[in-house]
Amino acid sequence: MSNKKAPTFFESVQLNFDKAAVHTGLPKGLLEQIKVCNSVYQMRFPVKIGNEYQVLEAYRVQHSHHRMPTKGGIRYSSMVNQDEVMALAALMTYKCAIVDVPFGGAKGGIRISPRNYTPKQLEKITRRYTAELIRKNFIGPGIDVPAPDYGTGAREMAWIVDTYTTMKHGEIDGAACVTGKPVNQSGIRGREEATGRGVYYGIKEFFSHKDDCKAIGVTPGIAGKSIVIQGLGNVGSFAGKISQHEGDAKIIAVSEYEGAIYSESGIDIDKLLKFRKETGSILGFPGTKNLPNNNDALLLECDVLVPAALENVINASNANKIKAKVIAEAANGPISGDVEDILLKKGIVILPDMYLNAGGVTVSYFEWLKNLSHMRFGRMEKRFNSNTYENLVALVEEMTGKTVGSAERIFLTRGADEIDLVRSGLEETMVTAYNQIREVKKRKRNINDLRTAAFVSSLNKIASDYLTLGIFP
Ligand code: GLU
Repeated sequence: MSNKKAPTFFESVQLNFDKAAVHTGLPKGLLEQIKVCNSVYQMRFPVKIGNEYQVLEAYRVQHSHHRMPTKGGIRYSSMVNQDEVMALAALMTYKCAIVDVPFGGAKGGIRISPRNYTPKQLEKITRRYTAELIRKNFIGPGIDVPAPDYGTGAREMAWIVDTYTTMKHGEIDGAACVTGKPVNQSGIRGREEATGRGVYYGIKEFFSHKDDCKAIGVTPGIAGKSIVIQGLGNVGSFAGKISQHEGDAKIIAVSEYEGAIYSESGIDIDKLLKFRKETGSILGFPGTKNLPNNNDALLLECDVLVPAALENVINASNANKIKAKVIAEAANGPISGDVEDILLKKGIVILPDMYLNAGGVTVSYFEWLKNLSHMRFGRMEKRFNSNTYENLVALVEEMTGKTVGSAERIFLTRGADEIDLVRSGLEETMVTAYNQIREVKKRKRNINDLRTAAFVSSLNKIASDYLTLGIFP
């Protein structure tokens, strides 16, 4: 291990930014404007917990205003600090550009461990945080739109939208002040699974390119690939479940904070989640063996390693020992900036966070559009399409003299529901973005990793927005 001080998370993002910036040919001033965090709001507020007041530390950072509103989740964790929120906000800017979601990047966080609070106390904290954001004009459908992140979910988003619409009574687009809401409270179907599903589409797309598979010595196709998942939260569990159900991939190990488990023949994620709910742990899951240390899972031989929890899990202490062929960054910033080259030199392909976990914000965008249109997707065309398909099937039957079976008829004549449209929009987004990044990598001979290519693709899009704004003529 070297004695050099490891970069902070924000420094890691900046390191990767600088590495890519030299390939863009963009003016220095413009790059500087893109790189910095525009607004950093640091707050302290008191909340009465039991009989005493706790003064909580919280943040909202808006990294870039080149597109409005700004967008990004809110994290509840005892690790939250200004550097982390700034890094995450910056990643949101690049992420949105990569998947053509027309937002600037932002992120928020409260430095608490949600496990230490009751739901009532969490509600109080969330509502107070929202009130602080409203007071400073740091939230609103056209200003800044939060969403879930590590330690938060639909429940917290429901408290936020309720606080917002109460304080901003009569604002017709109020529901669009936050995304990731429960479906029955102006949310959208498919948002909860979106980040994990996007991770699956991204991995699947990588394995669909024969040349790229050949380069790392694997057969094309996601089916049968061995996957290790670190972190079984929202992102890790959906990525695992969907890879298993729809991709026929094999999850050979799972790691969580209580430990890690391994099975060469594969772990059923649905059953594992049920087991963990009942026993409070993944350890001892039938048919698997416990690994002595939860970090050991990262070092296993596998086709795909999916870090799906927090930043900086692959760092100077373990980078040399990673044996995966592909690292799929479901989490934000799981690889420390100073060890990236070690992994690349080993020939490991890194599917970068700013692309791979963009499914969440993509479906957040769909939710925001749904809220602004005040109508569910599919309402206008579902029946029309279904009637058209019915007519086509009837015509084919008439012309051939044969009858279509009832199961096939249902399949052929169905009009798309909201969930179908959300999934298809997400798949289209992930496939298109991957191919854009891949093209940049192929076109620029001296770029040999996907993160740099993703950054270049993203920076060029952001730069052209600035040019449209007339700020950097
Ligand atoms: N927190 C998620 C992320 O890191 C989602 C953000 C959003 O939906 O706005 O991408």
